[in-house]
Amino acid sequence: MTSSSVPLWQDEPYSPRPPLQGEARADVCVIGAGVGGLATARRLLDAGLSVVVLDRAEVASGASGRNGGFFLAGAAPMYHDTRRLWGRERAAAVHAATLSAQQEVLEVAEDVGARSCFRVDGLLRLAVDAIEADDVRDNAAALAEDGFPGQLVAGDDLPGPLARPERVGLLFPHDGSVHPVRWLRALADALESRGARICEHTPVVAPPAADGDGVRVRTASGVVRCDRAVVAVDGDLAALVPSAGAVRPRRLNMVATAPLGGTVLPFPVYARHGHEYAHQTADGRIALGGFSDLDGDASWTDRAEVSGPVQARLDRWLLEELRVGAPVTHRWAGVVGFAEDPLPRCGPVPGSAGRVFALGGYNGTGHVQAWVASRVVADLLVTGASASAGLYATVDAGRR
Ligand SMILES: Cc1cc2nc3c(=O)[nH]c(=O)nc-3n(C[C@H](O)[C@H](O)[C@H](O)COP(=O)(O)OP(=O)(O)OC[C@H]3O[C@@H](n4cnc5c(N)ncnc54)[C@H](O)[C@@H]3O)c2cc1C
Repeated sequence: MTSSSVPLWQDEPYSPRPPLQGEARADVCVIGAGVGGLATARRLLDAGLSVVVLDRAEVASGASGRNGGFFLAGAAPMYHDTRRLWGRERAAAVHAATLSAQQEVLEVAEDVGARSCFRVDGLLRLAVDAIEADDVRDNAAALAEDGFPGQLVAGDDLPGPLARPERVGLLFPHDGSVHPVRWLRALADALESRGARICEHTPVVAPPAADGDGVRVRTASGVVRCDRAVVAVDGDLAALVPSAGAVRPRRLNMVATAPLGGTVLPFPVYARHGHEYAHQTADGRIALGGFSDLDGDASWTDRAEVSGPVQARLDRWLLEELRVGAPVTHRWAGVVGFAEDPLPRCGPVPGSAGRVFALGGYNGTGHVQAWVASRVVADLLVTGASASAGLYATVDAGRR
């Protein structure tokens, strides 16, 4: 069986909206129709602002529609590592913000008729050897110390094919999985019905520029004149916001199989410090990603092209770890923004006089973190202040 290079989630009929032709005017122009751009647009509509959203391709065509479909709280590093990296207070604030963002996402999904895109069955962080098992126990202790959920599991409570005597896992009851494209297409439709204008196949060809008291956003076939602009392009951030050089594009690989006859994974699993991640979809397929460490230097690219060696390793993992021999039907890669500290970036763009804002750099765990960052950006844009502003880093923080 040959496999499709279209991501599983995007492999459904879709009629894109027309591109922008000529001039448009709005209070805010949002560049990027992934989760970050759409979440920000939603908050700006809530504040009564008019919004135009531009995407060079389609809604959820970037990382937001090419990802693993994990709906998880927390930052990219494990919680105990974030305490060491950022200090206990900031680590706890970030973790709490992502937990409450998960709840908000589920409420919005309910409102837009997309709650069925989410399955909150819990998620297992699995230690694959004794050394990692100690690390998982340390993480469990740190979470418990700070009052966050996370339950140690071992033995028969581990999913059958992954169980080994030396293995232990940490189950997060608030996490789960999402069909990211169905969810974000539904969100985009809802924003449009509230008055947002969404233009697809509309590449922005230059960084947003000052235009009198406002901002001008130039596209391939038109221009948006607005009071403020928001750049939410994650892996492409440095292309439109040169000061965001601390966010670098990196490709990640995924495969999906044909539907299986039965349940192999009762809940999503993150294994080997989160390097591998797999879950079983509602229609019984395994969606599996990982081995970006095997991709080495080649992974640092803005091209969403699959890596042969990584794809072959994912095939082996399916067979050797999950004992799944079903054919792989989809193979794809996506590009995400990696921030070096690794703290996501959000806030005003330096030198823009507070007229241009940016968000991105979630290090491969952006579905919920972008939701948090969108709050910071929308608060700052609308009121000039945000109670969440100290969670993440500013747009120019960091070195290359
Ligand atoms: C393989 C893979 C697996 C992942 N797994 C998970 C996971 O399971 N859970 C999780 O939370 N996160 C995961 N992530 C990360 C997550 O998908 C991203 O962090 C998140 O989607 C980023 O959202 P975003 O809206 O900031 O960026 P994107 O979704 O990339 O959206 C940016 C948009 O900007 C548009 N754009 C770019 N340049 C321009 C331009 N010049 N003009 C106009 N439009 C432009 C793009 O077309 C794109 O649609 C994964 C990512 C990948 C690639």
